[in-house]
Amino acid sequence: MNSKKTRRILVSGEYVLCGPGERIISQGAVAVEDGRIKEVGVYEDIRQKYKDFSELRRPSGLVMPGLINAHTHAPMVLFRGMADDLPLKTWLEDHIFPAEARLNQDLIALGTELACAEMIRSGTTGFIDMYLFEETIARVTDRVGMRAWLGEGIFDFPSPSFPSGQDALRETERLSKAWEGNPRITITVDPHTPYTCNQALLEDARELASSLDLHLVIHLAETRWEIEEITRIHGCSPVEYLDSLGLLSPRLLAVHCVWLSERDMDILSERGVSIAHCPESNLKLGSGIAPVARLLKKNVRVALGTDGAASNNDLDMFGEMDTAAKLPKGLLQNPSVVSAAQVLSMATVDAALAMGRTDLGRLSPGYQADIIILDLDRPTLRPCYNCISQVVYAAKGGDVTDVMVGGDMLMIDGKLVTIDEKRLLAEVKAWRKA
Ligand SMILES: [Zn+2]
Repeated sequence: MNSKKTRRILVSGEYVLCGPGERIISQGAVAVEDGRIKEVGVYEDIRQKYKDFSELRRPSGLVMPGLINAHTHAPMVLFRGMADDLPLKTWLEDHIFPAEARLNQDLIALGTELACAEMIRSGTTGFIDMYLFEETIARVTDRVGMRAWLGEGIFDFPSPSFPSGQDALRETERLSKAWEGNPRITITVDPHTPYTCNQALLEDARELASSLDLHLVIHLAETRWEIEEITRIHGCSPVEYLDSLGLLSPRLLAVHCVWLSERDMDILSERGVSIAHCPESNLKLGSGIAPVARLLKKNVRVALGTDGAASNNDLDMFGEMDTAAKLPKGLLQNPSVVSAAQVLSMATVDAALAMGRTDLGRLSPGYQADIIILDLDRPTLRPCYNCISQVVYAAKGGDVTDVMVGGDMLMIDGKLVTIDEKRLLAEVKAWRKA
């Protein structure tokens, strides 16, 4: 990685928002040493204490934890806008799968770099990814310096990267060993869905995750069709089916969970499963709206994701937070049902906890220095009464000026540090032309 190394640095701004439900410090600063947060406080005090630290000063900046995208398929940015306004099954089978059949490692690398550029620009410091050729995604992400949890998609049928589900499982095991100990890249076990993996494959995935102590990610209860199909074949809901196979545990991140019965929600809660809520993708594909308010009431951990850019069509977590905060209000005709702070938590702390990380998503001593800065001197962000309100309801990804991951700068004053953006965009344009 060739990011700008900053062993000891003070990051300061007009406000420091330490996290959802945490302190907001006016004229605040964060002291960072060796990639972790050492202290957070009022600028003058911190400056006095850490005299020899270098400085990143943003007088109109809002300093806050980096966002974590809890579900995406990063290289799918290459399919952004390729096929819109179609139902999931048609979209997937007639458009996405054929396009994916033509993917190779070079295209995956190109798509991953483009996705990383978009994510860094919009204040995302970490992402949970399920896709193909995941080793290439890991290599590019590592070089760029983002944090990521990556899983090779596991299917019953041949995927563009592997001839069988068993091969994908073996690759997962190999990747987990190859990337073990990497401070930013973590491997997950990713059976694609309950209907694209047979029972034995799902059980093997569960066993692999358990034996290597890895997290599992699966798409679950996304569409009404999936409920009907699983009920027809197995005589129960997809949640009940996975429960009967022993897949539901705090180790599992279940993506979407749009179609849930009360009993399904109780089971998810009892088993400690985390949910990756992807409201814009669910809306765009016409899949429905996940019962997030009910899930939160039942103490299910909900994280927030964009899904792939082909069904969103961007990876901007600020837009996603805005949608996630407004959607349940309209649906239930109750503006208090999900708060801005709860949604910020979904995009930071809860996504980290879903991956078992208790040192991410907050600006607090000992936490990883994954920090972003927004410029509040924008017409859409003044006046500023409430930082969390501004972040969730008014800010856009483009308001982010600086991004740090593990103490390394990935964007400084709007310029990407680890990606040659001009070269990257030229390559993407040339590929599109070809
Ligand atoms: Zn997905």
